[in-house]
Amino acid sequence: MTAESTVAPDWYSVMSEFFLEYVRELIPESDIKLYEPMSAHITFRVGGVADIFITPSSKKELCTLIKYLNLVERDYFVLGQGSNLLVGDHGYRGVIVHIGKKFSDIRVEENRIRAGAGALLSKIAAEAAEHSLTGFEFAAGIPGTAGGAIVMNAGAYGREMSDIVESVETVTTDGEYLVLKASELGFGYRKSIIRDEKLLVTEVTFRLEEGDKASIRKRMEELQNKRMEKQPLKFPSAGSTFKRPDGYFAGKLIMDAGLSGYRIGGAAVSEKHCGFIINIGNASAADILDVIGDVQDKVLERFNVALEPEICIIGDF
Ligand SMILES: Cc1cc2nc3c(=O)[nH]c(=O)nc-3n(C[C@H](O)[C@H](O)[C@H](O)COP(=O)(O)OP(=O)(O)OC[C@H]3O[C@@H](n4cnc5c(N)ncnc54)[C@H](O)[C@@H]3O)c2cc1C
Repeated sequence: MTAESTVAPDWYSVMSEFFLEYVRELIPESDIKLYEPMSAHITFRVGGVADIFITPSSKKELCTLIKYLNLVERDYFVLGQGSNLLVGDHGYRGVIVHIGKKFSDIRVEENRIRAGAGALLSKIAAEAAEHSLTGFEFAAGIPGTAGGAIVMNAGAYGREMSDIVESVETVTTDGEYLVLKASELGFGYRKSIIRDEKLLVTEVTFRLEEGDKASIRKRMEELQNKRMEKQPLKFPSAGSTFKRPDGYFAGKLIMDAGLSGYRIGGAAVSEKHCGFIINIGNASAADILDVIGDVQDKVLERFNVALEPEICIIGDF
C-alpha cells in the first residue's frame, strides 16, 4: 500500500471529484464557477473566494441542485444581491447558489406584481410606478433582490415587506415547491421563517393599490433624496450594520459612545450615519468584523445595550 492510498479521500469536501462530477451532471458547466471571489458579489466589496459558485438557469435546475445539496449534506448559501452580507477574507468552503438576473422576471397583473426572487427592488418599484401602483415606494431605494428582501423583511420609512407581500413561492430542502401566504411567513423585525426553515425563495407576489403615477414617482424621488442626504452611499457598505435595539436607535447609541469615525484598517464607523460601517478603502472583512466587535463592546459597556448585527456573516475570517 502506498502512503497516498492510506489517506482517505475527502468525500465531504465540495471540491472532491465525486461531488463536482455529480454537480456537473445537474448544472451546465457555464453556470458553475470554482474559486469565485466574493468581493465581486457583495456590496461591502470584501471577501475571499467561494469554492463553488453556481448560478442556476431554471427552477428545475434549482430544485434538483437544492435537493442534492441537502441529500449529501454539503454547506450552501443562497445569495441575492449581497447587500446585507459580509464574507470572510478566507472565503466560503461550500456552494454559493446565486439567485440573480436569471430569476428576475417581473409581471404586473392588475394590482398584483409577481417578481422573480432575483429581481431588484428598484426595478420592481419602477414597474409599480409605471403601472400607477402604490405601496412599493418605501422599498425603491433598498439595493437588494425580492428574495433577499423577503428573508430580511426589509423595510424603511415605517413600512416593510410584510405590509405588501401576498404570497411567496419557495423551494424546500427536498427540492419541492411550497407556496406560503404572507401570514405563514413568520414576519418580524428584519426576519421571516425563510432562513430558519432553509427555504429558497423563487418568486414573490406583492399586492399593491391603485394610485397616481406622478405622486408615486414624486414620493420615490423624495425618499431617494433622503437616503442620499443621510446615508454614506459613496462608500461600500451593507446598509445599517445592526438591528434597532428595543427603545433605541443603533446609530445614536454608537455616536453617543464616541465612535463616529472609529476606524480599524480600511473599515470605519461612518461619520455621516453611525449605524453604517463602511469600507473606506481596501478594508478586509476582518477589519469590518473587528469594528463590529468593538462597537458592540463599547455600546454594551457604556449603555448596557447589546447590539445585534443585522447583516449576515459567513465564511472563514
Ligand atoms: C446602501 C444600503 C442601504 C440599505 N438600506 C436598507 C433599508 O433601508 N432597509 C433594509 O431593510 N435593508 C437595507 N439594506 C440592506 C439590504 O439591501 C436588504 O436587507 C436587502 O433586502 C438584502 O437583499 P439581497 O438580495 O442583497 O440579499 P443578500 O444580501 O444576498 O442576502 C441576505 C439574506 O437573504 C438570503 N437570501 C437572498 N436571496 C434569497 C433567496 N432567493 N432565497 C432564500 N434566501 C435568500 C441570504 O441567504 C441571506 O441570508 C441596505 C443595504 C445597503 C448596502
